[in-house]
Amino acid sequence: MTVKSFKRWKIGAVTITRIVETPSIASPQSLMYPGEIESVVQPHVEWLAPHFLTPDGEMLIAWQCFVVETPSRRIMVDTCIGNDRKRHFDIFNDMHNAFIEDLIAAGYPPETIDTVMCTHLHYDHVGWNTHLAGGKWIPTFPNARYLFGRDEWESIQTLAAEGDWHAEHLPDSLQPIVDAGLADFVETNHRLCDEVWFEPTSGHTPGHASVHIFSEGEEAVITGDLMHHPVQCAIPHKHSAFDHDKDQACRTRVSFLSKYEGGRALIVGSHFPGPTAGYVVRAEKNWRFDIDRPEPRTGIPVSKVQAQNHSEDSQMTTQEKQNEHLVVEFFETLSSGNLEALRSYIDDDTTWEPMVSENVPGAGVHKGNAIVDEFIGPVRNLFVSGDPKVKIHSLVAAGEKVMCETRASGALSDGRRYDNVYAWAFAIRNGRIKEIREYMDSAYVAQLFGTAS
Ligand SMILES: [Zn+2]
Repeated sequence: MTVKSFKRWKIGAVTITRIVETPSIASPQSLMYPGEIESVVQPHVEWLAPHFLTPDGEMLIAWQCFVVETPSRRIMVDTCIGNDRKRHFDIFNDMHNAFIEDLIAAGYPPETIDTVMCTHLHYDHVGWNTHLAGGKWIPTFPNARYLFGRDEWESIQTLAAEGDWHAEHLPDSLQPIVDAGLADFVETNHRLCDEVWFEPTSGHTPGHASVHIFSEGEEAVITGDLMHHPVQCAIPHKHSAFDHDKDQACRTRVSFLSKYEGGRALIVGSHFPGPTAGYVVRAEKNWRFDIDRPEPRTGIPVSKVQAQNHSEDSQMTTQEKQNEHLVVEFFETLSSGNLEALRSYIDDDTTWEPMVSENVPGAGVHKGNAIVDEFIGPVRNLFVSGDPKVKIHSLVAAGEKVMCETRASGALSDGRRYDNVYAWAFAIRNGRIKEIREYMDSAYVAQLFGTAS
């Protein structure tokens, strides 16, 4: 059977195509929430039906993967369950589906894929890594590098040694890739290219990562298994039987939902049935999943930091609110490591001056594009990909100025950690950042980078 249910989304210059392998089936509540007598779904039927529930109110779960095509790459994100396997669950035993034909029909013959990104190494995300040919398991994507999480790989070795069924697919879906020399072991924040990188979302498995897509100011995240069903937006704190570290999985869901609430990114649910993608929006104490994008938030403070700083009777002008908003976005972009996107916040005459002693790397005044090319780029290269992350502690706007406190932390490429607090002064005119001054503990920086006088 060929299931021609492709669905495509455009994120700037990137196309995401959904390939369904096993269409939605009902998943009894007792599987995910054993012992839960009351319906966890009932209070949320209004927004879950009809897409994410059966007519009887059971959760629907699908198995599918995504081809992410950038101007220069063709990437598989996960590879579903696969044919001809012996599996723990009867329904996935010895399947014979038309996945490869579907992939070709969608315009992506396997040999044209250059990268396979595995959100984690569970059997239902790595199956089509290989296929059976002449009695042997061989790589389905012979011209691809397969990105396996380093922590995931270690974890599955341990499970295999313990005889755990969670590792039963190691010999047919993973080991042949390693044996063929096609596997690269990567960190959970590994950046593949300008538009695509892993985002750490551990809990479901120890090294679980989602896939972040960013292009022309638009964003999407392919969740992997940080959630299995949209109802988890409303009950993110509830332990799910599917998660390896249940407390960590809850923390990850809450921080993920907080981060993306309000429509900042298209959220593509790896196990969500059609329409599969939507937006996280606030609902009562938690969140819900909306298919429609919420109204853009113009001139309204976006972060919780801002919500804390300003009560409803705030006397801020619209301009000041917009300036705050711009600085919050600037830090989010800086943290994402997308330096091309950073250029849209600055002009040719923008200056950035770290207020540090002269012996500290980066001391001096940086101007225009040199800010990215000669200052921020080289500084970020001292860190592992995706670091350092900047967190805003407080923020206040007055006139054209925005002042704030942040903490920047992350891992240096040589394994040491960086952790420093900053105070910032921004001047903003006409929606562009014109001046940046940053104050930090420069003795700490000088000591860390070995240039102390
Ligand atoms: Zn899964």
